[in-house]
Amino acid sequence: MQNTSKVVAVTGASSGIGEATARRLAADGHRLFLGARRTDRLAALAQEITTAGGTAAFRRLDVTDAAEVTDFISAAHDRYGRLDAVVNNAGVMPLSPLEALRTTEWDRMIDVNVRGVLHGIAAALPRMRAQGGGHFVNIASVGAYEVSPTAAVYCATKYAVRAISEGLRQESAGDIRVTLVSPGVTESELADSISDPAAREAMKSYRAVALPASAIADAIAYALAQPPEVDVNEIVVRPAASPQ
Ligand code: NDP
Repeated sequence: MQNTSKVVAVTGASSGIGEATARRLAADGHRLFLGARRTDRLAALAQEITTAGGTAAFRRLDVTDAAEVTDFISAAHDRYGRLDAVVNNAGVMPLSPLEALRTTEWDRMIDVNVRGVLHGIAAALPRMRAQGGGHFVNIASVGAYEVSPTAAVYCATKYAVRAISEGLRQESAGDIRVTLVSPGVTESELADSISDPAAREAMKSYRAVALPASAIADAIAYALAQPPEVDVNEIVVRPAASPQ
């Protein structure tokens, strides 16, 4: 299937890495189904891709709602008649020290970053099994490999995405491919969700050196372009000029 058109569903496609991934995969000839809550952004992106000669459709999606994710995956399948890959990309990062007890934000990270990925797997895995194969690309973070102050819960969610991805890979018996893509600091709207003033300030210097979102999209495109017998399991992409 190398370099052939695949049907790819992307969650969190309204900004940052998901948006760049949609553009890159469309340029590679893949057919995109895009999800996020900001449908005005998705509509503009799908229009841009279509105008450029690509194929993209979209649907409103909140990944914390299992039924919505099931409907999203069904709609992707109905639209194109199959489903080759899901990019579980939607994520939030409201960092804060644990002692700030921002428990609502902890829950939101768990709901979006962990449950959202599980909902994507639950919705797509039976369809992929039924059609004889498929590919999950789960977006983690360098925070899936190391923990830093204010990032305990965020890193916990990304360690979880890494564990879930590895478990899925081990259970997959050749038909399901699983790629974990872990970005370092990347230009996006991710830090906008930080409400804790100290954590927000600390992020300014931490995020001073950043990759363009297209660099992560390139890594995802590489994994998807491999032949069926090749499963790219983990990719970590950091800015060359940053230790983090
Ligand atoms: P952005 O904030 O730019 O994008 C996040 C995307 O997730 C948006 O499209 C947003 O869409 C979507 N999203 C958030 N909540 C939900 C929800 N409940 N349901 C559906 N979609 C949702 O950040 P990034 O592009 O950086 O983030 C993409 C992924 O990359 C995340 O998983 C993040 O953790 C990971 N990452 C990013 C790094 C970085 O430095 N940028 C580093 C390491 C990992 P909407 O609000 O419209 O729903």
